Amino acid sequence: VVTTVRAPNPSPMTLDGTNSYIVDCGNGKALAIDPGPDIESHVDRIVETAAAQGLRIDAIAVTHGHPDHAPAAAILKRRTGAPVLAHPSSRVPHDADLPLNGTLRVGARDIEVMDAPGHTFEHVVLYEPRDAALFTGDVILGQGTVLIAPPHGSMHAYRNTLHRLLEKFPNAQTIYGGHGPPVHEVRAKIEDYIAHRQLREREIVDALADGGTQTIPELVLRIYGDDRTELWPAMARQVLAHLIELEDEGRVTADEVARAMTERESTIMNPHIDGRFDARSASVAAEELGASKRIDVLHSYRLSG
Ligand SMILES: [Zn+2]
Repeated sequence: VVTTVRAPNPSPMTLDGTNSYIVDCGNGKALAIDPGPDIESHVDRIVETAAAQGLRIDAIAVTHGHPDHAPAAAILKRRTGAPVLAHPSSRVPHDADLPLNGTLRVGARDIEVMDAPGHTFEHVVLYEPRDAALFTGDVILGQGTVLIAPPHGSMHAYRNTLHRLLEKFPNAQTIYGGHGPPVHEVRAKIEDYIAHRQLREREIVDALADGGTQTIPELVLRIYGDDRTELWPAMARQVLAHLIELEDEGRVTADEVARAMTERESTIMNPHIDGRFDARSASVAAEELGASKRIDVLHSYRLSG
């Protein structure tokens, strides 16, 4: 039995807020997944919700370290004494590493853990076999798509992760994502996500085949149009993530452009977060968009060979 406790942190990056999950693992014990942002009242609700079901929180797992998912783990640990578990590479303070591609015993359940890089390098997906419940964090959301932004995001790793989810959990009945509602058409959802990335890659390759050498701002305007300006940096970094994968595969070559970026090009390439969000949402947006990687040098891309 899975109970969702939604954190009060809605924003463009977090949809209606971060989903924290309480998983009844039998024997009166529960696993808490993604306690969320550091909002005490939200942790109160997690503790109260578990108690109302007669459950003791026995372990706390974080899918990844982003500030909308992990900071409350420390607060929940303080309140319950339960250990915090995270990916071995996670910078979230944790008591034990999650066994990548192994199982975690909580109560009467063996929770399966899958290494799931792509959105970040330290992302895991968890699977509770009795309810056939797949906890995907920010690998798959209840609605919309996921941002894959360098330097911490990798499109190649992400696409591999989606394929491995299909192979590893063919019996999954429900996806419980980090944001948005549960998804019951599991296979169709994962296949949609795979198709979406294939389509975007196709559009980029076609644009390069058709227009010759192009920069990321040119590709953004060509593929997405020029009307949704507030989404430009998100689009630019998705295109960058695809181009890095295509370069790694030897299909695309990048050359540095020997001039400074125009103001418009810089506006497309670099997120302008200050003033657009409150502090909590700004830190999430900065992580999601890879804002730590400021891009000041323009490259032009062409198909190899
Ligand atoms: Zn998130």
